[in-house]
Amino acid sequence: MPRIGSIRPSVRLALLRWYRRCGRAGLPWRRKRSPYRTLVSEFMLQQTQVERVVPAFEAFVVRFPTLASLAAARRADVLRAWRGLGYNARAVRLHEVARIVVSEHGGRIPRDAEQLRALPGIGTYTAAAIRAFAFALDDLPIDVNIARVLHRLGRRARTALGRGGYAVVSALMDLGAHLCKRRNPDCVRCPIERYCEKKPLPARPRSAKGVRFRETARYARGRIVDRLRELPPGKRISLLDLHGDLPK
Ligand code: SF4
Repeated sequence: MPRIGSIRPSVRLALLRWYRRCGRAGLPWRRKRSPYRTLVSEFMLQQTQVERVVPAFEAFVVRFPTLASLAAARRADVLRAWRGLGYNARAVRLHEVARIVVSEHGGRIPRDAEQLRALPGIGTYTAAAIRAFAFALDDLPIDVNIARVLHRLGRRARTALGRGGYAVVSALMDLGAHLCKRRNPDCVRCPIERYCEKKPLPARPRSAKGVRFRETARYARGRIVDRLRELPPGKRISLLDLHGDLPK
């Protein structure tokens, strides 16, 4: 399992500073954290965008404020509370998880990765997310956004030292979602740009037609005329030498 602590401390610090200014710390499952709220949010976020999850999550935890209340609910009521999110199989599995945790784990969501992965609907990513967000453990859940950021950062951002925190994961998620996008990453505003190995090269200015002026025939003609003007009267120059004298 990848570790948050494997990210270089200076990168984590830059991420945390940026997260304090620009991150989505106000998301309801981040603002107030508990294993149950993390579990619900992770199930909802599996196939639904954050913006749609926010109101559904808030209504769901009002309807079922605790894991025990969810476990005791009727399946039909759980599905009703899931309305609008789609992929109802997630609601069924979440309900199953609540029932199993009550019957087999004394009502406490396990923090052990293997026990988590043994529950319905919880794979490697969700187990790592629950361990990082709910229990502040060092697991690094890698979704597509985080994978992209880590890939672009490259080895310079890694270290075997230090520990991280769930806020680092949140920052990485937000960075991947808002700045380090698949196309056209916003590297100018990126807080960890100086550590990034694979940031795209800045585009060079181009003329209105999309061709750099130095690449045009007009530019070449001007340089040839300049060079010929510099020749003393009567002096000749071969095409080869002229070509060699032109600025590249
Ligand atoms: S510098 Fe650009 S490519 Fe690198 S992590 Fe930041 S946004 Fe992504």
